[in-house]
Amino acid sequence: MPKRTKRVNASKQPTSVITGGAGFLGSHLTDLLLSRGHRVIGIDNFVTGTVDNIAHLAGNPNYKFIQQDVTEFLFLDGPVDYVWHFASPASPIDYLELPIQTLKVGSLGTHKALGLAKEKGARFLIASTSEIYGDPLVHPQKEDYWGNVNTIGPRGCYDESKRFAEALTMAYHREHSIETRIVRIFNTYGPRMRINDGRVVPAFVSQALQNKPITVFGKGTQTRSFCFCADLIEGIYRLMMSSHSEPVNIGNPREMTMLEFAESIIDATGSRSKIIFKPLPQDDPKQRRPDITRARTWLKWEPKICLEDGLKPTIEYFRGKISS
Ligand code: UDP
Repeated sequence: MPKRTKRVNASKQPTSVITGGAGFLGSHLTDLLLSRGHRVIGIDNFVTGTVDNIAHLAGNPNYKFIQQDVTEFLFLDGPVDYVWHFASPASPIDYLELPIQTLKVGSLGTHKALGLAKEKGARFLIASTSEIYGDPLVHPQKEDYWGNVNTIGPRGCYDESKRFAEALTMAYHREHSIETRIVRIFNTYGPRMRINDGRVVPAFVSQALQNKPITVFGKGTQTRSFCFCADLIEGIYRLMMSSHSEPVNIGNPREMTMLEFAESIIDATGSRSKIIFKPLPQDDPKQRRPDITRARTWLKWEPKICLEDGLKPTIEYFRGKISS
């Protein structure tokens, strides 16, 4: 089996390629890598990403942006040390609107990104998701749980594309011996989320800031665990720099019901909003909380920013978006 174990030379500036580089997480990852001395090449087709997320990087000599769909062949001149594959619609509303693009970026896009990593001898990280566990029958979710996914349901396009992406990543690791990492990202929030992406954080915060009704789906007894973006990106960075090719959950284990979360948002914003109930979307997972034992022991990582502290800059960000 050919060995592709190119060592990253510590004395030279590493080059990172980030697909989905203009997205919520891709742009925060870009900032972290630039602050740690990387040269960064961001790729995005702006389907769900936005130029606003990378506007502050204009003129930065260590940053280059390419507008491209990553399902098409990726040609890049020069060396690449790390490929971070973050491109994908990631909110339930987005992947319901874009089911085929979601499946294509997780399959064809992952193939192209892995091909780039193989060609360059780069280390590869796939941004996978807690959605691969589906509506989990095991709680909290450990990485060795195989999941409970409805392949043909409305969320199947996202869940299955990410499950395929993990399988392809492991196939490239085994067949081509490229160094690969798999992060399973749990619910994350922070500045640069799209206000209308339908996810619960932008939805509740923007409703609260405008004193509009807070739309809790179902009875609000379903649970999620929210991680602030800066914590998440640090965990992902540590995973890439580690030696672990097995999947690692990164998320915040503090779990709450959506009703509790709605109340936290009302408190944090000082809103006069009332809570109203809307139908629960099909296949909405009833509970979700990461078991982060692997991240704690392998990466010496755990989240440091509590919900109350993470909500402050997030609320300020959405306040700016609403008033502009
Ligand atoms: N949710 C809600 N009201 C909203 C948006 C979402 O109650 O306006 C619920 C949704 O049903 C889910 C949870 O919040 O149980 C998190 O939804 P999100 O879309 O953020 O992501 P998911 O974790 O389901 O992928």
